[in-house]
Amino acid sequence: MIGAGVVGLAIARALALRGREVVILEKNPMIGNETSSRNNEVVHAGFLYPPDSLRGTLCRPGAEMLRDYCRERGIGLAVHGKLTLALTEDEDGLLETMMAFGEDNGVQGLQLLSAEGVKEREPEITCRMALYSPNTAVVHSHDYMLSLQGDAENAGAVLSLNSTVVGGQGKVLTVEDENGEPFELAWDTLINASGLGARDIANYHSSERDIPPPDIRYAKGSYFTLTGKLPFSYIVVPLGETLAAGGSFTIDPGGQGKFGPDLEWVTEHDYTVDPTKASSFVAAVGKYWNGLDVDRLQPGYAGIRPRAYGPEDPGGDWLIETEVEHGVSGLVNLLGIETPGLTASMAIGDYVAGQLIH
Ligand SMILES: Cc1cc2nc3c(=O)[nH]c(=O)nc-3n(C[C@H](O)[C@H](O)[C@H](O)COP(=O)(O)OP(=O)(O)OC[C@H]3O[C@@H](n4cnc5c(N)ncnc54)[C@H](O)[C@@H]3O)c2cc1C
Repeated sequence: MIGAGVVGLAIARALALRGREVVILEKNPMIGNETSSRNNEVVHAGFLYPPDSLRGTLCRPGAEMLRDYCRERGIGLAVHGKLTLALTEDEDGLLETMMAFGEDNGVQGLQLLSAEGVKEREPEITCRMALYSPNTAVVHSHDYMLSLQGDAENAGAVLSLNSTVVGGQGKVLTVEDENGEPFELAWDTLINASGLGARDIANYHSSERDIPPPDIRYAKGSYFTLTGKLPFSYIVVPLGETLAAGGSFTIDPGGQGKFGPDLEWVTEHDYTVDPTKASSFVAAVGKYWNGLDVDRLQPGYAGIRPRAYGPEDPGGDWLIETEVEHGVSGLVNLLGIETPGLTASMAIGDYVAGQLIH
């Protein structure tokens, strides 16, 4: 297993609990230090993706597993509910499509609200209509990952930190330890859950593959934290350009409000937040709430979404490639595992284990 982000840990846990010997190689000195700690921590309900996609199939079951698991283990989880807002006529239709996806994906409790219905819940929000999701939550993602790690280790998995995979050929990986000393590791089954590094690792086997590894693009998302009182008690998400400009509102597990992420296609993995973006965030939020003062925004953090599609495409799905797709026996590549990877992590764990253990 390569990668101790939330997805790698969930897969390691699923395999270890099924009796497989698992070694997790992680380049950083700690778990979950990349995309898994640079996201919204939202437990999505499962209405955003079509039912014939991996994201659509695994999000709702993953959310239910995650919510039950967190309640059982006492991991911080706050169910705020979410209002997805339509601000233009086109977006009314998008909400209806999401409602249909949600019904097909088995999401409970979704409700379309009129503009007045939204005002009854959030008097300061102006929109055309909204999709209300009662079960959308936020989770303390680091505590969740520590618990997954604990389960995996208790079931016999070994976590090797400071271990960077730098190459591979056939069924042998080249790994460097924290001193840059290389060593080799033979594998029987290799799960590449290395997030932003997954395309490079897939490439190590390109000469053995039937088809070349797919291209992966990168979409950065920056956040601004909100000082002072929370304006809303729900997670509030606009659509389209307003969403891409940072107009989304979330309450983090500690109770602080934040806006973002926005969307910026990048080629470098640079997590700097440009403070001058604050005014465009205010303009985006102003499309549905005119109470935000720029002085209340502080640059927060940024994350980078690996995507198996680009800005020219209407959207896309995760790619979980097995021998069937690429022809290399024992290799599973997880590519483009963007949102809702945190939400669906346990369902992804079961899915990958199901591909390997029959
Ligand atoms: C801005 C943003 C907001 C998001 N919001 C949400 C949300 O609200 N809800 C939700 O469900 N999802 C959300 N997501 C998606 C979610 O964060 C990811 O799907 C999830 O964290 C992916 O986990 P991962 O384990 O695949 O990747 P990572 O967390 O990136 O883990 C990969 C690990 O592999 C390691 N690695 C990489 N290369 C090597 C190597 N060569 N050798 C050894 N180790 C290596 C890395 O160090 C890393 O620890 C968001 C993502 C972003 C960017």
